[in-house]
Amino acid sequence: MIQKLYPGGKPKAFNISYDDGVLQDVRFVALLNKFGLKGTFNLNSGLMKTEFSWVHENGMTVTRLPEDVVSALYEGHEVASHTCTHPYMENLSKAEILGQMAADRFFLEKLLGKEVKGFAVPFEYYSPLIAQCAREVGFEYARISEETNGYILPNDPYWWRGGKFHWDEDLEGYVEEFLETDEELALCQIVGHSYDLDVLDLWDRMESVLHRVAGDEDVVPMTNLELARYADGMKLAEITDEKVQNESETPLWFRVDGEIICLQPGETYVKRG
Ligand SMILES: [Zn+2]
Repeated sequence: MIQKLYPGGKPKAFNISYDDGVLQDVRFVALLNKFGLKGTFNLNSGLMKTEFSWVHENGMTVTRLPEDVVSALYEGHEVASHTCTHPYMENLSKAEILGQMAADRFFLEKLLGKEVKGFAVPFEYYSPLIAQCAREVGFEYARISEETNGYILPNDPYWWRGGKFHWDEDLEGYVEEFLETDEELALCQIVGHSYDLDVLDLWDRMESVLHRVAGDEDVVPMTNLELARYADGMKLAEITDEKVQNESETPLWFRVDGEIICLQPGETYVKRG
């Protein structure tokens, strides 16, 4: 029996994706770093000034992070695009959608000095046109504002649903079930905004969830881009009863008859006996 695994021979992966690039990301990134976990942070490069702060419905002012802190803050995590100015995209033309994506990618890459290859849609609206634009701009995946409530690694990278929103009352149950599941390539992905942690008083709950996940040696922390690339690689694995072959450009991990193996691109593993 051949089982697909994540990098390092781990059966499960964990990701947290937070949007909008706000002040509370500073405290949240420190928490991720403390536990050795990885996040994907989706930023709007056109709104990185305090004048683009807004008042939340509960009365709290939500403040955007300024440009000059972004590069150092998110070191070791993924920064992805969330459009330049966070528009509701339903009524935008194709040119406007492409402009929002391309401009954000350009400015974020300039700010970070590295490639930005991921995208998360602002608000809830999503469409095949937006997916097509994400592809044309060169993003390798696009995350939408829907949840699977499960542990599936997305099959279509341009229609990527998160696992669970972090304000869910059963967030702890979702995570415990993940730690118990035998599903192949199980992914636990939590989605939200760090300002919710203040607004909804979720810091303690989130910290205990992160602590729980970080303490499990079956789990590897991954960014969305790492997950998207790994999922793409796995699609090019040829698995039969006798052998497994890596036709992708990514090292791929498997468990074959109880033994953990890593196959480099182009490599084949033939089962013994
Ligand atoms: Zn947003």
